[in-house]
Amino acid sequence: MTEQSWPKIFTDKEDFIKQYRLACEREFSKSHEELGPQERYYAMASLIAGKAKALRGDTLKRANDKGEKTVYYFSIEFLLGPLLDNYLLNFGIRDIVKAACKDLGMQLDDIERCESDPGLGNGGLGRLAACFLDSMAALGINGNGNGMRYRYGLFRQAIEGGRQVEKMDNWLEHGFPWETRRNESAVLIRFGGQVVRHEENGRYWFTQEGGELVKAVPYDVPIVGYGAKKVNNLRLWSAEPAEENFDLDAFNAGDYAKAMKFRSDVEAISQILYPNDAGEHGRLLRLKQEYLFVSAGLQTILRDYKKKYGDDAWEDLGKHVSIHTNDTHPAMCGPELMRLLVDEHGVDFDLAFKIAQQTISYTNHTIMPEALEKWPISTFRDLLPRTYMFIEEIDRRYREGFSHTDPNWQEEFKNTAILWDGQIRMANLSVIFANSVNGVSALHTGILEATTLHDFYKLTPEKFNNKTNGISHRRFLGNANPKYAKLVCDVLGEGWLGDANKLAELEKYEDDPSFLEQFEKAKEWDKQRLADYIKETTGTVLDTSMVFDVQVKRFHAYKRQLLNVFKILDIYNRLLADPSFKPRPTAFIFSGKAAQSYTFAKEVIRLINSVADVINNDKRVNDVIRVAFVPNFAVSSAQLIYPAAEISEQISWAGSEASGTSNMKLMMNGAITLGTYDGANVEIAKLVGDENIKIFGLRTEEVDALRASGNYWAYDLLKKDPDRLGRIVNQLKDGTFARLSGNFDSIYDELMVGNDHDLVLKDFYSYVDAWEELTQAYGDRAKWNRAAVHNTARSGYFSSDRTIREYAHDIWHIDA
Ligand SMILES: *Cc1c(COP(=O)(O)O)cnc(C)c1O
Repeated sequence: MTEQSWPKIFTDKEDFIKQYRLACEREFSKSHEELGPQERYYAMASLIAGKAKALRGDTLKRANDKGEKTVYYFSIEFLLGPLLDNYLLNFGIRDIVKAACKDLGMQLDDIERCESDPGLGNGGLGRLAACFLDSMAALGINGNGNGMRYRYGLFRQAIEGGRQVEKMDNWLEHGFPWETRRNESAVLIRFGGQVVRHEENGRYWFTQEGGELVKAVPYDVPIVGYGAKKVNNLRLWSAEPAEENFDLDAFNAGDYAKAMKFRSDVEAISQILYPNDAGEHGRLLRLKQEYLFVSAGLQTILRDYKKKYGDDAWEDLGKHVSIHTNDTHPAMCGPELMRLLVDEHGVDFDLAFKIAQQTISYTNHTIMPEALEKWPISTFRDLLPRTYMFIEEIDRRYREGFSHTDPNWQEEFKNTAILWDGQIRMANLSVIFANSVNGVSALHTGILEATTLHDFYKLTPEKFNNKTNGISHRRFLGNANPKYAKLVCDVLGEGWLGDANKLAELEKYEDDPSFLEQFEKAKEWDKQRLADYIKETTGTVLDTSMVFDVQVKRFHAYKRQLLNVFKILDIYNRLLADPSFKPRPTAFIFSGKAAQSYTFAKEVIRLINSVADVINNDKRVNDVIRVAFVPNFAVSSAQLIYPAAEISEQISWAGSEASGTSNMKLMMNGAITLGTYDGANVEIAKLVGDENIKIFGLRTEEVDALRASGNYWAYDLLKKDPDRLGRIVNQLKDGTFARLSGNFDSIYDELMVGNDHDLVLKDFYSYVDAWEELTQAYGDRAKWNRAAVHNTARSGYFSSDRTIREYAHDIWHIDA
């Protein structure tokens, strides 16, 4: 599609200015000149959101007329990031708006900086959901999101005395101009109460009565696809009291807090986003969140379906609708869909199960058995008694239908049943109800089939498939890296924005000195932009002539930020001990949050800041190495960091990272991956070739074999090497980095008493060697830049457009 055929939401710059001025008056009853940047942002975003909403009707009408299938992507998180710049790009009006801003005496960048990150996700899983929305709309798929509208995000991370401090993330403080509240589409959700059996003329049915009735109110966010062919909908649910039945006696007695308690208990359901990676399983409020967005979403789907196809076409639901569940948080989709079909639409049990299976598909994101979600049966049954009955009955039938001919049947049975040991196993529930089960990288899917879900794989191999993750190349190259994106457009035109495979044509420029020089200039600009941001937010000064070595992601033991710190300490110690040691001058940049209750991960953050404090203030080394920690990692700051990176640290122990997506964003921006053979790194390596990536460390099979042997002793490694590795480990305790807020005994204990579960010491040497080789290669600028551009050229495969095309074709059975 050419740009000329796109819906034109403004005829020209003057038209935009006119409409923007009207928006200022409409929103604030003031002129543009009287408004501050925050209000100008709000007016502009409201204007664009209004245009998007107006086009939503066309999408619906066309979908209706052509009888197109609709996908609903159920995810407990959507980490959207800022939307304004992305929508300007997708509407094809970024240039005219930029010029209009100039005429109005302001910079578009300054306006965009006023947009806050919606606090609707933790990290990778939520960002994947957001990239998928972008790609579904871009490919012309009717693909809607269904999730939660959290009043407060996870937390805003500040660093005090080197420590992570969690502050309230009040992301709605200045309003969210992209959303529209839809009172008329609210639905009721019931928690608790009793199931009552009714019988009449030999027919019987059940109702759930009593308990707590909650109103789920949707807020809709329009999702604009590239070229504005489609405007899809992201529906986010908020919990409110079903009726204002507060305690009138307490109210009249002046005890307002008591009178309002009911309201606050209900509203608590959509008040906060839980961390996804630290002991928050088992919280009742989390279970309520999961049920609320699942049930509310399904009720909406069935209501719309009935309006369109009538009350006796339920068996065709799966032909017209696909419900995709992102991880196990929406695992209740199966039983809840059955409940609604059976209890509210008179479908019989067997047919309801068949419909659910035809409609639902499932993506697994975790290999680690301890991370698989489970709920105690008693908790679940008390909260959702009727939905539980469907789980119980499906589990009973599943057990009954089990073939006992296989000699391993007891093992299979034990591993695949839904109910076991007093618990509901949400992954098994998801698999049994799904027509498709996919992992998120080739390696991850292989591990699922071979171990985590092996027994299911043996029983129903046809359900299993791989869908390697992807990222929105429009956002993470087009929006995030304007200089490099422009350079790419100068040689390739704009076609790559719609078709990322076209990036492959950059290979023609890999040996073009002028192109490589311009690439280096763009990278230099990105590095300066990041250095300015880091100076402004932390005070840390970085020299852009240094290599920018970047590890930005959630803090987690398996991601091994600690290994990166050990490498830095090794370089530091060697610099002090050996004047002939000349490492490549490097700035080590970290960013990421640790879950509030994840003590070890928070200690690693404190260690990084303590090491930064020592190194950055040590004149003997600080023009060779610097360390920066960028607080409050979010999509907006990520968009400043990825473009500036030259080394992409992807150093999880092999077999632990399902896919990773920052590895893809970074390679696309011309960073060279320094990584283990884990997750999608494996596929990156195959695509770019050995000479354009640096792989180190144990492979998955080696990690498995080492663990199985029981023959790994961290202590022995230290004894063998007291001067190097031993020294680093002792520095955790000997006061070297204690100035800010003390030593790091618990990290020491993790390594020594915990016997280094994450194999930091084991991979240490190959990691440091790999880093040295890689940074030595940086000296040959032309060769380095060639490798960087080659990484971009081969990154088209990792566009989420490719991923979504595969989902559409293989799982949802849609042409796209
Ligand atoms: C891409 C992204 C992630 C995922 O990073 P991984 O390194 O793949 O874990 C997390 N947070 C944000 C803000 C992202 O943009």
